[in-house]
Amino acid sequence: MMIATGYVRTFDKLGRFVIPKKTRKLLGISKLQPLEIFVKDQQIRIEKYTEKCKFCGSKNIQEIFKKVYICKKCSSDLRRSDNYEILKNDFNLKIIK
Ligand SMILES: [Zn+2]
Repeated sequence: MMIATGYVRTFDKLGRFVIPKKTRKLLGISKLQPLEIFVKDQQIRIEKYTEKCKFCGSKNIQEIFKKVYICKKCSSDLRRSDNYEILKNDFNLKIIK
């Protein structure tokens, strides 16, 4: 459900757009929070950025491999592959959950 905030803003000369502090505070968005921009049907949607699985895009992150995030299912698929032990030993695969 979309809620009108009553704020109307324009882009500045450098093309920047400010989300009002009250809105950021309401949503728990800090100054350092990465945000991701989506576009659909002439609308812009901005969400807090969360790491996604490199292979399927899932947000259910299970492992990090050389700064690559991997979800539970892809991790399971990887474990079943013949290369898993090589990857685990050679690259120090880190299990986070
Ligand atoms: Zn995945």
